[in-house]
Amino acid sequence: MDDCLFCKIVKGDIPSNKVYEDDEILAFYDINPATPIHILVIPKKHISCHNDIAKEDEALIGKMHSVANKIAEEKGFKEKGYRLIINCGEDGGQEVMHLHMHILAGKSLGAKIA
Ligand code: 5GP
Ligand code: ZN
Repeated sequence: MDDCLFCKIVKGDIPSNKVYEDDEILAFYDINPATPIHILVIPKKHISCHNDIAKEDEALIGKMHSVANKIAEEKGFKEKGYRLIINCGEDGGQEVMHLHMHILAGKSLGAKIA
């Protein structure tokens, strides 16, 4: 998608601080971190939001979780824990319309979610 910010990051047209990359998935540090460690995991394929996940994407979405686990282990926050967030649509507060999973870690986030 030509006018999508995260597709531009996938293509390398916009730089990012990469944490993980394979042929299907990219993970990079959020430019405006909400927690001491804030990483975004995205599919390289353009999927606008959670609503648009198709049956054929199920393995890809599962892989995003496996990548999050790998990152948690490699970055050393697996044992202390972390929060995964996917914002969807207006009420979900989604600002970038390319599916992404936030990994928030590095401090206690407490039990309250919203
Ligand atoms: P959303 O609100 O859509 O769930 O989250 C979008 C996230 O993308 C925000 O946390 C924001 O800080 C991050 N973001 C926006 N533009 C850029 C960028 O150019 N580079 C990086 N690394 N993160 C970005
Ligand atoms: Zn995109």
